Amino acid sequence: MAAHDPVEQKYVYDFAEGNKDLKDLLGGKGANLAEMTNLGLPVPPGFTITTEACKAYLTTGREPDGLAAQIEAHLESLEREMGRRLGDPDDPLLVSVRSGAKFSMPGMMETVLNVGLNDRSVVGLSNQAGGNDRFAWDSYRRLIQMFGKTVCEVPGEEFEHALDEIKRAKGTHNDLDLDADDLRGLVDAYKQIFAKHTGREFPQEPREQLDLAIRAVFDSWNAERAVLYRRQERIPADLGTAVNVVTMVFGNLGPDSGTGVAFTRDPGSGAQGIYGDYLANAQGEDVVAGIRNTVPLQELEQLDKTSYDQLLGIMARLEEHYKDLCDIEFTIERGKLWMLQTRVGKRTAAAAFVIAGQLVDEGLIDLDEALHRVNGAQLAQLMFPRFQLDHEFEPVAKGIGASPGAASGKVVFTSARAVELAAEGESVILVRRETNPDDLNGMIAAKGILTSRGGKTSHAAVVARGMGKTCVSGADELDVNVPAKKFTVGDHVVSEGDVVSIDGTTGKVYLGEVPVMPSEVVQYFEGELDPENTDDALVRAVHRIMTHADGARRLRVRTNADTGADAARARRFGAEGIGLCRTEHMFLGDRRELVERLILASGERERDDALAALLPLQRADFIEIFREMDGLPVTVRLIDPPLHEFLPPLEQLAVNVAVAQERGEDVAKEEALLAAVRRMHEENPMLGLRGVRLGLVIPGLFAMQVRAIAEAAVAVVRDGGTACPEIMVPLVGAVQELETVRAEAERIIAEVAGDSGVEVLIGTMIEVPRAALTAGQIAEAAEFFSFGTNDLTQMGWGFSRDDVEGAFFWRYLELGIFGISPFESIDTDGVGRLVRIAAEEGRAARPGLKLGVCGEHGGDPDSVHFFHSVGLDYVSCSPFRVPVARLEAGRAAITTTGSDSR
Ligand code: PEP
Ligand code: MG
Repeated sequence: MAAHDPVEQKYVYDFAEGNKDLKDLLGGKGANLAEMTNLGLPVPPGFTITTEACKAYLTTGREPDGLAAQIEAHLESLEREMGRRLGDPDDPLLVSVRSGAKFSMPGMMETVLNVGLNDRSVVGLSNQAGGNDRFAWDSYRRLIQMFGKTVCEVPGEEFEHALDEIKRAKGTHNDLDLDADDLRGLVDAYKQIFAKHTGREFPQEPREQLDLAIRAVFDSWNAERAVLYRRQERIPADLGTAVNVVTMVFGNLGPDSGTGVAFTRDPGSGAQGIYGDYLANAQGEDVVAGIRNTVPLQELEQLDKTSYDQLLGIMARLEEHYKDLCDIEFTIERGKLWMLQTRVGKRTAAAAFVIAGQLVDEGLIDLDEALHRVNGAQLAQLMFPRFQLDHEFEPVAKGIGASPGAASGKVVFTSARAVELAAEGESVILVRRETNPDDLNGMIAAKGILTSRGGKTSHAAVVARGMGKTCVSGADELDVNVPAKKFTVGDHVVSEGDVVSIDGTTGKVYLGEVPVMPSEVVQYFEGELDPENTDDALVRAVHRIMTHADGARRLRVRTNADTGADAARARRFGAEGIGLCRTEHMFLGDRRELVERLILASGERERDDALAALLPLQRADFIEIFREMDGLPVTVRLIDPPLHEFLPPLEQLAVNVAVAQERGEDVAKEEALLAAVRRMHEENPMLGLRGVRLGLVIPGLFAMQVRAIAEAAVAVVRDGGTACPEIMVPLVGAVQELETVRAEAERIIAEVAGDSGVEVLIGTMIEVPRAALTAGQIAEAAEFFSFGTNDLTQMGWGFSRDDVEGAFFWRYLELGIFGISPFESIDTDGVGRLVRIAAEEGRAARPGLKLGVCGEHGGDPDSVHFFHSVGLDYVSCSPFRVPVARLEAGRAAITTTGSDSR
């Protein structure tokens, strides 16, 4: 760094200068290489260019001032340390240039190996390798290939064709049969391809190679597949990647060399042990790409016991140091072990819970940290059903259970076809020999992924686990023929469109559709599995962590339920009341006819009769729900949707009437109905006669519901139960609306409740922006607010909630206007701000005002954290999301400095 410029930003860090907590700056790979270096582990020396440098480059289109000089200085010091110079014809230093973002994005960005080779230093490399010309020329051709493809966008197939051509000429299929002369010839062919596509010779100047490779890694942050992956994984788009320049070590120098990947525990189940793959005489990329089949890591013990023992020692040390499951990449160069990477390893949902529990038992972490290490998305995944297998279903193949779950679907062989069929609503299984980063779209679209090659650490396995998608990898009995759109397994031929089922836990593959059964975690929540008395490690871990979350959380968790059955299930899942009982669902089925009568009533009498017929039915519904939720609050929302939703569609009715008239039938009733439908038609029904407006316009409607609620509560109390009803008025925008409904409701409640002791709270939804902005006034007439974030999002953004997601959200996601649908996860800046304003102003006007949320966001993990931060009292969500919300509310309440469970 220039000494005369004290303010110049530091863009380059030697490995010895960093540590694992500098991931923002050095990326995950760089920070962990630094950490391992400082632990004294054998890491090939190198340095890291920061994410700040990348961000500056991406913003301005050029490297920031000072970066070139800093790279020069660090390179010189690396050369001194290694006693070798980049490009030296006799004894060259070679480096790899590797991406490394804060959050791991496996295979999404670029890497260039063997930088520093040219026509002269290739000879020096051969000398270093003891006169191994073949190795040196193979390394050189790999550089031209990788550099050409990554840095200069030369089409990769051209290099592949040239390689195939040489093999064909030699009459072999195996790269290893090519000798030094063949590879020298291949280098010439590659150079020609390079020159043809770039209009220049392959750069011989090593520093130019290095600079261009660094630039290509920066650029790869914005490559299409990286952008897509970030969106899928909700990784912010503005983090940038660091670049690691690392001394090359070679796993392809002969049988005493090799490369591998390993986990310190099983990333699938969490079981303790040694899990990994090893490939002798190969470079790291060969393992990750799943191109050649690996052997289990344990076999290294026979091949090289010293390195094996050293590796196990290092793995134990890393686990203790990181206090977590670690994954590692290593290379052995002629019997010398080098650590190329470590990080806290990705794991399946089940393993996340099991490992968190184990680490507590081992005294490495406490329960707060254990809670922090799991998340609601993982829990949700564990609640998926699994295959129900009996003798009818024999697997046709068994691969590696690479990412758990059960998936059935139509077989497709290309990413494009997967996307097409998924868009038509089909479940598809993407079948490939192995996947590569270009398959990402198809993997997102597919229900499951099946490959015939590759281990637990292949591209398919790593990416699928990250997405929580079912994957079986390395099912090598499958002979996959992508151009012919079929695979064969034993005597079976499976073509595109045929259905298969894959089990990502056992690795088994079945023909046809296999029925599914519930997860053991759901059985536990249902009370069918005793967590104190089971040998199921997952259930024990889930129970322990859920119990801790319940103790830690401040938010209460209620459920949205309209039936006794849903209420009962939600209660078993831990719901502490009902936050939203939508009464309109009670008017469907045979009761539709009564609603029709109400709508068609020609006078007060007829209307009152219709309401009187509905009253006992409503009362019975509420009695059932209050009984199931005995002792817990139940928020009943008065009817909300436009009434014409209960009538038949206009077109259908018009046709029926016309046909009946033609036949000379009596159609008086249908004609009246048709006239009502026409009369009630609205251009914008979601902004029309619905919610509180119905109550103000249709006399007796809300009164009937309020009476049914109060009578049901009294009935339950008289039976010895405890009913805690809360009446909620929808779509309020002005306090006057609420006051009008409230006055009538209070009168009815007083009349019905008498001296029964029943108390009924009256509150409102906050789902119209005006209500949020006048919350101080509205709170004067409300004992509680419940945020209807579905409508608040609809009206806050002006997005029709029924249309826009399918219509154009893809474009908004593509443009990065938002990273996730605001109907799925709360838009904290806009809609969230309305929630915050209403919460603050409501509470200022009425201290102790009860605040909750009952929109879909109540079960979304990120949104739960937001509602916690706003200080709401509870979230309410569908029964199946209740455990997720409990867990996330617990996580929101604890603060720890530990690793993130992303
Ligand atoms: C809401 O708008 O968020 C809400 C819960 O009500 P609904 O979805 O029934 O409109
Ligand atoms: Mg609503």
